[in-house]
Amino acid sequence: MFSFPPAPVVSLPHPLAANIRNPVIVLRDDLLHPFMAGNKWRKLKYNLDAFHKAKYKTLITFGGAYSNHLVATAAAGKKFGFHTIGIVRGDSHVSNDALDFMKRCGMFLLFITREEYRLKNDPNFQKVLLERLYARFPHLLLDEKYMLLPEGGANEAALKGCSEIPADFPGDTDILCCACGTGSTLAGIVKGLKPHQSALGIPVLKGEDFLHRDMVNWGASPDRFHLDFSYTFGGYAKQTPELVNFCATFSNQSGIPVEPVYTGKLFFGILDLLKKNYFAPDLKIGILHSGGVFDFGKEVL
Ligand SMILES: *Cc1c(COP(=O)(O)O)cnc(C)c1O
Repeated sequence: MFSFPPAPVVSLPHPLAANIRNPVIVLRDDLLHPFMAGNKWRKLKYNLDAFHKAKYKTLITFGGAYSNHLVATAAAGKKFGFHTIGIVRGDSHVSNDALDFMKRCGMFLLFITREEYRLKNDPNFQKVLLERLYARFPHLLLDEKYMLLPEGGANEAALKGCSEIPADFPGDTDILCCACGTGSTLAGIVKGLKPHQSALGIPVLKGEDFLHRDMVNWGASPDRFHLDFSYTFGGYAKQTPELVNFCATFSNQSGIPVEPVYTGKLFFGILDLLKKNYFAPDLKIGILHSGGVFDFGKEVL
């Protein structure tokens, strides 16, 4: 249906990348589009293909109040002209620039409690949810022409989209690094690796017990990837002054904007591993910039 030309690759300016002979390559997926960018676009791409083929009218999906996935979905609905409904975890009194952006794109929002949100994949709860949606937005759900997409857009179509990421790096890259939330982006990357390549994930939340297992369940073979949990900074969306400072300094010095939730932790982690000689000096390192930096003042074009 629709695809963007591959994102540019850049190399990290030399003083930032220590103890390594080759340039450290960054794939700037954040530049694919101002809002439909990064891994969220990779995950949406084949889901939107399926959506169009099935002639659905309304896309219903899930996320938190700052969800990059909801932002991307809302922008896609505006750009391609279909209805979107965001089921948002939390209190309907919350307002922020991400939610305002979603509304401006025409996304309808339904807020559910944190307890309910935990049940979002339970078919019985989904039935209740659909009844609530029918009551609120009857015109959007006529003829049952809607598609329900899981949180973060994570499903087989999303994995397929992410498995295309390695091909956009230079072919001689040895190790591909990315930030991990659910791990589905990294799982897709692992599926798309060339035989000589491996992958390194920098988790942004404390999930030692489930992240690795989930990735293997998504089909990522465990001998092809490693997770380094040293850079979670206490958990999801947790930040320290050190991390916030790093994001500002790094964005300035490299010209690559990062934020503290995902890509700030990723680049902090990789630069620290470089300092600690974690990588062999002749390794060719590739880093995925998975997006997440928005200027909500822009219009969706
Ligand atoms: C959602 C997101 C991630 C995490 O992706 P997962 O597939 O859940 O691991 C990483 N970076 C950015 C910018 C994101 O928006």
